[in-house]
Amino acid sequence: MTLVMKFGGAAVATPKHFAKIADVIARRSRHFQRIAVVVSAMANKTDELIALAKEVHPSPPRRELDMLVSVGERISISLLAMALAASGKEAISFTGSQSGIITTTQHADARIVEVRPWRLLPALEAGKIVIVAGFQGVSRKGEITTLGRGGSDTTAVALGVALRADKVEFYKDVEGIYSEDPKGHPGAQLFSRLSYDDAVSLLSQGAKVLHTRCVKLAKKNHLPLHVVSFLRAGELKDAEGTWIGENESLSDEREVSYEEERHVETTGFAHV
Ligand code: ASP
Ligand code: MG
Repeated sequence: MTLVMKFGGAAVATPKHFAKIADVIARRSRHFQRIAVVVSAMANKTDELIALAKEVHPSPPRRELDMLVSVGERISISLLAMALAASGKEAISFTGSQSGIITTTQHADARIVEVRPWRLLPALEAGKIVIVAGFQGVSRKGEITTLGRGGSDTTAVALGVALRADKVEFYKDVEGIYSEDPKGHPGAQLFSRLSYDDAVSLLSQGAKVLHTRCVKLAKKNHLPLHVVSFLRAGELKDAEGTWIGENESLSDEREVSYEEERHVETTGFAHV
């Protein structure tokens, strides 16, 4: 059984948050043999990095901006690996490039064309918790790219596809997906299940719970998604949160596809 867990910026807002989510991960590791975790940058880190760039250049070269903002997720993966180590769990962090997240060349708006998780697999087989930086990849030209704001969700799903995960769990500061934003709408209704298409239309109407592209990618690959709260304590139950999918039945042999078709020529990746 393979699980991908995704923690967003709110879940890693302060140094103390890392110990808390290390705990959540340790609990899930009792139920899944292989666990890969994707994290976003801490709270406002990405905005801070963009503001920093703009102090130096009013409209920074996109290649250099990607080089800079990809650092946000790198801070999170290393701190989470340290928090897991502090609680006695074996864990190892990887950048997007090290994880083999291959993207198109559009800086700040790249699409995932393929995942080559060769470095992750031995670590997973050795029973380590694998931690992957969200939001970033490497282009066919070997350049560091980012996927667009909110793109870590799409990293998590692409990784779920590549690892043939049973599901991807998204840990949020709300219980799941609601009919309206639960902050400010006390009567908002929590959905226990949504089809991929219904989730896409809710997100297109402005709900910011998930990156829309991640739901489309999950649909293509029949990968179930589960949106749950990171504020919860104790074991996660199937009945909690919001499931997105269509009663998928998964087989290990399933064909996979990513956001964009890959080119026929795939040589020249010695560094990946
Ligand atoms: N850190 C990036 C952002 O703020 C990506 C993400 O959080 O998903 O947009
Ligand atoms: Mg997000």
